[in-house]
This record gives sequence, structure tokens and C-alpha cells, in this order.
Amino acid sequence: QLDSSQLKAFENAAAGHDGVQTDESGELIIKPSTQQEVDFYQQTLADQPVFGELLPTFMGTLSLGAPMHGKDDIAIEAELTQDEKDTKLLHGKKITTGTAIVLENLESNFKHPNVLDLKLGAQLYAPGTPADKAERLDKVSVETTSGSLNFRIAGMKVWNGNSYDIYDKFYGRKFDAKNVSDGFNAFFAGLTSSGLRKDEAQGILETILADITKARHCLEKAESRMYGASVLVVYEGDPDALDTIMGGVPKTPRADEKAPTVGEVKRAEAEEEDEEDDPPIAFTVKMIDFAHARWAPGEGQDENVIKGLKNVEAQLDVLIGKFDE
Ligand code: ADP
Ligand code: MN
Repeated sequence: QLDSSQLKAFENAAAGHDGVQTDESGELIIKPSTQQEVDFYQQTLADQPVFGELLPTFMGTLSLGAPMHGKDDIAIEAELTQDEKDTKLLHGKKITTGTAIVLENLESNFKHPNVLDLKLGAQLYAPGTPADKAERLDKVSVETTSGSLNFRIAGMKVWNGNSYDIYDKFYGRKFDAKNVSDGFNAFFAGLTSSGLRKDEAQGILETILADITKARHCLEKAESRMYGASVLVVYEGDPDALDTIMGGVPKTPRADEKAPTVGEVKRAEAEEEDEEDDPPIAFTVKMIDFAHARWAPGEGQDENVIKGLKNVEAQLDVLIGKFDE
């Protein structure tokens, strides 16, 4: 149960519209959204479980209802089963205005998350979009790597040790197919400067690449249409934190250290279980932004998005190779 007074603006988005909120703990993202995005999450969880692993955890929907008892009443509706959804539709109670989706905040569990939003596709709007909006988006596409590579850097934020360097939507629009690698270099510079070993930095990039390949393989086996969806890449921007996660903790006790007694081990394990927070992680990569996405049986592969994923993979491949030079 959430109360609207417990929500606050999410200040850490890499791109997109205003209006994204988070809760007091910072573990949730509350994004005003469309029924189509809710449907997409629910259908993915039901029918595309492997692709579902590449989405932030979907906690349900939240309706910003009319004021009751003098205050906004907000409740996370339990994730609806298809049956429940059918019933809802049957009773004409389709969720329309004031609906938000509640997702796992992919930036929690990091000390200083670096965030990259890669918007996929050369066509950026669904069929049926009003002509003026379609023309505007077509213009952006032909002028950017959206048109040539089926992806563009929609935004990023990078921890510089003291504050965040913000790269807004205009930053990513200036690249062409030849120099968009500069954007990847800027985003992943923290892997080189953090003091990680070459193989550790490569390992992170290889796992990010593997996740993106997994997303592509899912889409090659399925039939879907996704307009304006993104790959969101997050990694630890705090050099010391990253170092610690990647093995800064000695794996074997040093010679001058006594091995812990059984009691000490038990106590340490109990403390770990009591820990409420999830352990820190080095990185995460997920797909987001499904306001104009749907599974599309009978319509074939989503070449628009698949080509974009392939080109993102190619960029990461080049970056991984650079560590060998
Ligand atoms: P839109 O682009 O329509 O405003 P998005 O779903 O792309 O909506 O969200 C906007 C921004 O919010 C993203 O660029 C990302 O930085 C952030 N964001 C969205 N979902 C999450 C999430 N689950 N965890 C962390 N950040 C998120
Ligand atoms: Mn977006």
C-alpha cells in the first residue's frame, strides 16, 4: 500500500518525459503510463518468460484515484491474471486515466549509477500516429543514428567523482554511424578509469552484450512490434564500489588472519540474512518503455528493433576489442 504523500519525483532519469516518481525507499519506479504498456508487461510475463527476464520487475499498476477522505488514495493493484483482466474489461472498468505502472527501480543497489538509454528503431511511432507527430519523429530519425543504425543514444548520466555529467537528448542526436562509438566510450570510460583489471572490464561488457543478444534472440523467435522502446544500461559509477564488487574483497584469508570460528561464521551468515537491502551489483541491462509495444502474432519479426539491437551489439564488440589493443 502506497500513499501519494510517500511519492517523490524521480530525479535520476537518463531520458524521457517528466512525471516519473519513486517511493521513499527508492526501490520503486512509478511511471504514468498507458493501458498498452500494462498489457505488454502482463502478456510478456504470461507468454514470453525468457524476454520477461530482460524487463524490470513489474510490481503492478497504481491508480491515482479521485480524492477520497480528503486525500489521494493510491493502491498498487495486485498483478492481474488474464481472468481478472477479462472480468475487469467485462465490467467496463478498464483502467484508463490516472494509471501508472510500478516497476523495480533499476538504479537502486548502486552507489552512483551510470545510466545509458538507447532508443531502438528507425521508425519511432506506431501506425496510426497523427501525421504531425509522425513527421517530427521521422525528421529526428533521418538526422540521427536512429535512421542509419536503428538506435540512438537518447540520454545518459555519468558520475564524475563529484557530481553527475548529464548528456541530454541533443547529445545523442549529433552522432552519425561512424562516430557514435564516441558516445559509448564516454559512457563506459568509468570501466577503464576505475582500476579494474582488463579482463574484469571486458567481463562486464561481455555480459551486457550477452543480455542484449538474448533479447535479440527472443525477438527473432517471436512476432512483435515495439516503437520507442529502449535498452537501459546501468553500471556502478563509483570506482571504489565497483572495485569492491569485482573482487576487492580478498577471496582467501591472508596468512596473518586467523580463520573464523564456527560461531563467527554463523553470526556473519545470520547478519547477512537480516540485511534488508539487496547486495550491490556491478551492472544491469534491461529493456524499458513499452507504451507503444505489443506482441503481434502473424506479423513477423520486428526488423526495426532487431536491426537496432544488432548494431548496439556491434558497438559493444568494438569496445570489448579495444581492451586488447
Ligand atoms: P518515457 O520515455 O516515455 O518518458 P521511459 O519508460 O523511457 O518513459 O522512462 C523514462 C526514463 O526513466 C528512462 O530513460 C530511464 O532513465 C528512467 N526509467 C524508466 N524505467 C526505469 C526503471 N525501471 N528503473 C530505473 N529507471 C527507469
Ligand atoms: Mn523512453
